Amino acid sequence: MSEERNTISRGPWVDIDLNAVCANFAMIRNQAPGAETAAVVKCDAYGLGMAPIARALAEREQCSTFFVVYPEEGAALRTALNSADATIYVFGGPLSETLPLFDRFSLTPTLNTLEEATLWKQHFPNTPIGVHIDTGMNRRGAHINDVSAIANLGLNVVMAMSHLACASEPDHPMNQSQRAMYLDATNHFPGAKLSIASSGGALMGSDYHFDLLRPGIALYGGTPFTKDDKRIAPVAALRAPVVQMRDLAPGETVGYSATFTATRPTRIATIALGYGDGYPRSGANRACASINGERAPIAGAVSMDFITLDVTDLKNPPKLNDIAEFFGPNLPIFDVAQNCGMVPYDLLTGLGARVDRRYL
Ligand SMILES: *Cc1c(COP(=O)(O)O)cnc(C)c1O
Repeated sequence: MSEERNTISRGPWVDIDLNAVCANFAMIRNQAPGAETAAVVKCDAYGLGMAPIARALAEREQCSTFFVVYPEEGAALRTALNSADATIYVFGGPLSETLPLFDRFSLTPTLNTLEEATLWKQHFPNTPIGVHIDTGMNRRGAHINDVSAIANLGLNVVMAMSHLACASEPDHPMNQSQRAMYLDATNHFPGAKLSIASSGGALMGSDYHFDLLRPGIALYGGTPFTKDDKRIAPVAALRAPVVQMRDLAPGETVGYSATFTATRPTRIATIALGYGDGYPRSGANRACASINGERAPIAGAVSMDFITLDVTDLKNPPKLNDIAEFFGPNLPIFDVAQNCGMVPYDLLTGLGARVDRRYL
């Protein structure tokens, strides 16, 4: 995956701190000493590169359980880990066409419906599997009324999971009601490991820990909550160079649709990053970048390849090839996401293929 991306000369890149990923994993694991901590590495590890991240977690933190959505992701992960030992769960469940992939790469489905469970039973009656119980999110997982029928198939259920709809708000009453419904349903699967916590549940206290934690976003430096969480270390820094400078007279405008008009002599720095690289268009005239330790607001539209910054007020005027940071240690990803009407999840997973992934 990331190995196949082309490097662009003087284009945008994202620095990815693998030590910080490991530190976040350890921080989560320390929340729940009695439980196992897994890593959710779906969607190319939230855009940051599944192979290097999964390898770092396996080698440095002895992480041995991973979650992806598609069996193809699971196959790539098995190959990247080069180990038969890791347990790789696939949230998406099996189709008749994908059964050979599950078999060949020893992938463990989390069965979502009676149909999936019946299909699995016909082909692999004894292979260990997970069951996903829907406790009110109404997205994926077995309807509560189907749970006993799935249990009666007599599959080798080693893990029974559910997913919280409102983990972004720890005080939301739905968390407690989902937990109660989940506990009741798990009586059908005695001996199975229990798991309801994504990053939010993992950071919400022991009520949600059970046997297996499934954090994603917190590993990658993003908060799962509607406010920032300083327990989580920043992981990714989106950076790009200044490629042109321009001085404007009052009345001149910047960019598509001329949405920024200079009201004073204004200095503009053009940066090699745009919405084609995953930077949101909604950051236009709202978000900022950090450049030489100072903050500069975005002036005008975000275009496909370029962003223009108003650097007039900077004490250190930037020069060609200076580096602007759009989120990272100097500019919390949570604040940037908020300014753009987004959350860290979509900022990270939206990073484009042209953004070079660099590992520290
Ligand atoms: C994506 C996902 C997770 C991880 O969620 P985060 O909020 O990123 O920690 C856990 N469980 C399920 C079912 C998921 O889809």
